[in-house]
Amino acid sequence: MTQPGLETRALAPISAGMTSQTHSFQAEVAQLLKLVTHSLYSNPDIFLRELISNASDACDKLRFESLHDAALLEDAPELQVRLDFDKDARTLSITDNGIGLARQEAIDNLGTIAKSGTREFMSRLTGDQKNDAQLIGQFGVGFYSGFIVADRITVESRRAGLPAEQGVRWSSQGSGDFEVEDITRTERGTRVTLHLKEDAGDYLGAWKLKGIISKYSDHISLPILMPKEEWKEGENDQPGQMVRTDEWETVNKASALWSRAKKDISQEEYDEFYKQLSYDQTAPLAHTHNRVEGATEYTQLLYIPAKAPMDLYNREKAPGVKLYVKRVFIMDEAEALLPVYLRFVKGVVDSSDLPLNVSREILQESRAVKAIREGNTRRVLSMIEELATNDAEKFKAFYAEFGAVLKEGLGEDFANRERLAKLLRFASSTTDTVSVALADYKARMKEGQEAIYYITADTQAAAKNSPQLEIFRKKGIEVLLMSDRVDEWALSFLNEFDGTPLQSVAKGAIDLGKLQDEEEKKAAEQAQEQFKPVLERIKEALKDKAADVRATTRLVDSPACLVVQDGGMSMQLARMLKAAGQAAPSVKPILEINAEHALVKKLEAADAHFDDYAHILFDQALLAEGGLPEDPAAYVRRVNALLA
Ligand code: ADP
Repeated sequence: MTQPGLETRALAPISAGMTSQTHSFQAEVAQLLKLVTHSLYSNPDIFLRELISNASDACDKLRFESLHDAALLEDAPELQVRLDFDKDARTLSITDNGIGLARQEAIDNLGTIAKSGTREFMSRLTGDQKNDAQLIGQFGVGFYSGFIVADRITVESRRAGLPAEQGVRWSSQGSGDFEVEDITRTERGTRVTLHLKEDAGDYLGAWKLKGIISKYSDHISLPILMPKEEWKEGENDQPGQMVRTDEWETVNKASALWSRAKKDISQEEYDEFYKQLSYDQTAPLAHTHNRVEGATEYTQLLYIPAKAPMDLYNREKAPGVKLYVKRVFIMDEAEALLPVYLRFVKGVVDSSDLPLNVSREILQESRAVKAIREGNTRRVLSMIEELATNDAEKFKAFYAEFGAVLKEGLGEDFANRERLAKLLRFASSTTDTVSVALADYKARMKEGQEAIYYITADTQAAAKNSPQLEIFRKKGIEVLLMSDRVDEWALSFLNEFDGTPLQSVAKGAIDLGKLQDEEEKKAAEQAQEQFKPVLERIKEALKDKAADVRATTRLVDSPACLVVQDGGMSMQLARMLKAAGQAAPSVKPILEINAEHALVKKLEAADAHFDDYAHILFDQALLAEGGLPEDPAAYVRRVNALLA
């Protein structure tokens, strides 16, 4: 086959007959080879990813060494990988002009398992196929994955800096042994030639190869080249076909934005990359881009979108963070890289510590991944804190979209609870916009106030108009209004903020502590005492509905309200769970009565309609907090009976 362009790629003349030797694979290699070909059979494409990654590593190594010895680059400073195939010979080759292998290196690196990681891997093998296949995900299988698709692999190489005569050819059928001979090779670097198996003919097509490259290797920062093809019309009624030209074309994007220095990347480039990544056409609110060094090394480029996705509240949805290992794509939506409550974040993590074959299961358990998740979480929180301190507009926009999911973090991420609590914002009885931070609230607390008071309800309006707030309003005490579905659940994890307890005004008996003077307390006790017989009667009338009936000082304008026991589930949450079809314990609330109210005074005097009055009081209290009477028709009947 003499196609133009192929000459340049033809083998350098071989000085045959030089020291050709046959070596046996180290026992573990033979074992690994068998395992690799068996267990990775179902996803053969990955061999190309592994070999391109090796080629890219070889170029990285050369680039690094050339920093000290520029001569190593010889007359070919542009590092690249070339992919070529020969349909007739059924070969596929991956050629790099990287560091290359000297003879002994080929013997050592391709014939033994030197890496401690792989040795550990071998020692854990059980012989059980399924188990071992899972284990394989933990460790890179690298070069040997070529044998999934090839029944013979030839490696020709020359190490950078060595003379052409010191080239090496390594060759093996992937069973017991490999051969090594000296060759003359003018080109620096390595060519790996796969002699494809009968059933691997797929890989002899440009289209297939390009597909795999764009899936796995687009962001290899090195150009990957393939012979350029052109459409040629058929002659004499023959169908047209793609034919090769002399030129090579780059088939990967060849740019890993995240691996470039921050200062060289413009805002537009960051935004553009986000759009590619997320399929979201709106520019993101913020990004954070860091190279993290230390025990676990990785690069993170994370974005906060400007708009929440439709399925934001689906906790099953994994965060949009892609995982790369050394710029090779590994997986989308790597859920192990961020906690669930930060699922709105999009971005890329590129680790140099993980093997290429890492699986989702392995990610969940890996210590390196745990460190990455913690690092990512800290960075995202810093990004949000930064908005909160420096860009009120953007923070407001952020909070409107994602504030509710951020609250889930209180229950999910104990380590960062304090930081999260500081980021939360609420409406309050004195501020209609969702803008009050817990610290703001604290700063405004009244002299003698010992708790941060809040109320949860279905809507902000219901919260604001709740009878439970009356005494607080009268005393000028601010109460936080919470109407996100997640609020009650989330707040149950936040017992205190900066040393001050949080207290729901709809739970437990009211104790305003020092905010109530002695006289008020005494008056309340007296009322309770005098009122006792009436309370007993109401209690009897409502024994199926109310857990208790007691007099209260929390009401000013309303005759009654419902509260639940301290630590109990609120009526609102119980309703919500029921509406969602979930099992909720039936909450029997406590009816609290305002002994000073005209309606209550009337009830005291009532004889004939005492029962009606009692039930109406209860049902109205329920209505006032957004609930519905158990038997609406009965409620109407009773009201009508009194009106008539
Ligand atoms: P890994 O790449 O994870 O170390 P591999 O089995 O893929 O393991 O490769 C084993 C070794 O062979 C590499 O560490 C490297 O030293 C050498 N090697 C593989 N491919 C190349 C290449 N294209 N150029 C130079 N050296 C290579």
